Amino acid sequence: MSSITENVARVRAEIERAALAAGRDPQEIKLVAATKMNDAARVREAIAAGVDICGENRVQEMLEKQARGAYEGAPLHFIGHLQKNKVKQVVGLASLIHGVDSLPLLETISREAQKRGLVQEVLLEVNIGAETSKSGFAPEEIPAALEAASAFGGISVRGLMAIPPICRSPDENRPFFLAMRKLFVDNGRKKYDNVSMDFLSMGMSGDFPAAIACGANMVRVGTAIFGARNYDIDK
Ligand SMILES: *Cc1c(COP(=O)(O)O)cnc(C)c1O
Repeated sequence: MSSITENVARVRAEIERAALAAGRDPQEIKLVAATKMNDAARVREAIAAGVDICGENRVQEMLEKQARGAYEGAPLHFIGHLQKNKVKQVVGLASLIHGVDSLPLLETISREAQKRGLVQEVLLEVNIGAETSKSGFAPEEIPAALEAASAFGGISVRGLMAIPPICRSPDENRPFFLAMRKLFVDNGRKKYDNVSMDFLSMGMSGDFPAAIACGANMVRVGTAIFGARNYDIDK
């Protein structure tokens, strides 16, 4: 068995353990393989090993790997920071865009989706740690953002996503994960057109069991599946 196959099995087992411990059905947790910097062959291996979804960060890399058939057999999500000038290349290709962090970006996606006659599914990104280095809506901006989104055509908001601050231990992220869970549940109670609070995307290699314990139903895992990324060779 390849290490990717073994790693996916181990991550799955951890997801199952965390879900059961929280009294949840493991099937409701979607495993997104964060595939950045892994080539098409490695991505295909992860799909064969049973990840639910592939998540890419960079538009150019995604297009190149897609041309090599990297994502055949799995849905493709965009999980990176999306610039407005790259929206055209992502709308309709990624079935879900996780990191929609501003109304101007949402509006750009809406315009592009309507031009193509499709509905683009998105998650709103929340800057849950109020970090100046990170983009995303402040928690208190979410109701107004959903209200605005409900008036845009070509958009379906399917939930929320967050990247909490880097912490020394997974447990330090629990307050952020719990705050996200509350935001997700509270905002899910109100009914808006084009909005259904289905997905709460949070948790990465270092902390996905804690995220699941706090209510995540979509985790984005890179290193625990593919091993450490070598940033040097990328430059
Ligand atoms: C890279 C990345 C991940 C996965 O990170 P790991 O720590 O390698 O699991 C998750 N989410 C986003 C947005 C990422 O860019």
